[in-house]
Amino acid sequence: MEQLTKSEIVDILKDDSQNEQLFAKADEIRRKYVGDEVHLRGLIEFSNICKRTCKYCGLRAENKNIDRYRISVEDIVLYAEKASEMGYKTIVLQSGEDEFFSRDLICKIVSEIKKFDVAVTLSIGERSFDDYKAFKDAGADRYLIRIETTDSELYKKMHPYMDFDNRIKCLKNIKSLGYEVGTGCLVGLPEQTIESLADDILFFKALDADMVGIGPFIAHPDTPLKDSDNGSFTLALKVMALTRIMLPDINIPATTAMETLNPNGRIIALQSGANVVMPNVTSKEFRAKYEIYPNKICINENPVQCRGCIESKIKSIGRTVAKDYGFHKKVV
Ligand code: SAH
Repeated sequence: MEQLTKSEIVDILKDDSQNEQLFAKADEIRRKYVGDEVHLRGLIEFSNICKRTCKYCGLRAENKNIDRYRISVEDIVLYAEKASEMGYKTIVLQSGEDEFFSRDLICKIVSEIKKFDVAVTLSIGERSFDDYKAFKDAGADRYLIRIETTDSELYKKMHPYMDFDNRIKCLKNIKSLGYEVGTGCLVGLPEQTIESLADDILFFKALDADMVGIGPFIAHPDTPLKDSDNGSFTLALKVMALTRIMLPDINIPATTAMETLNPNGRIIALQSGANVVMPNVTSKEFRAKYEIYPNKICINENPVQCRGCIESKIKSIGRTVAKDYGFHKKVV
């Protein structure tokens, strides 16, 4: 397994003359370590209500220009059931940090969904150790919480009233409880340096992450960063490819944000190191409202259309859709 130093990573990120070789190499490592199967995770964005004020995110509490919703417990479970009937072997439950969804309520949702013979991933932000423990005991298999950036100064600027050390603590707690740990970063935040992106990749490695999601920052008009430039698709793809090289056997999603910046973004990502896609499995009425960034894809499609569309794209590049749960199979 090839391991790069920080300065090697920085050099690669700064030099665009070898990009195609980098993507081809990440693709080759992906094939060797995780194979040609693509894991589909059914994503349920169940609440866009959030108490946080992350500067980049459209769900931030201070955004008044957003139609807030919560999907009922019954409907969340129903979407999960329908997704499992469509063949999904993992359900991802994501939301803003919405305190309505108490420890008990999340446990109830998780245990109901576990009856459908699926793996369950939670992505609901920072919670106490006891909450994480209760969710695990209820059957949750994985937890996804991006570090967003490992530059603690930038983290502070981007996340008012939040604490970088607590985010790290959450990741450590999740790990110690035996979850599969998903993390990741944004690429192209204002003032973010290439050096800090290299640190992000080294952080994923040091954490021994099971899944890493990387996406470009996309400026949302109803946030303080509305006038900032979007992140670069190519740079995000490079950070993702380097992550594959450094952590060869982990799960790496082709993120929706990549497809927002490039109409073929997810397929390009699948050919540059990614092996996971997370199609939305809720109905139209919620998709546009979960607007973490503008111009989200697939907001006018239903779950059946999304599944069909991504399956045919996956087959068109000679890959197959996996039928198992898609846990991280450690090779290295
Ligand atoms: N509340 C949960 C889920 C957050 S939404 C949590 O804190 O983990 C999922 C991800 O969307 C975030 O981790 C962030 O990296 C990404 N995101 C938010 N706003 C974005 C934007 N403007 N552009 C691109 N990605 C964004």
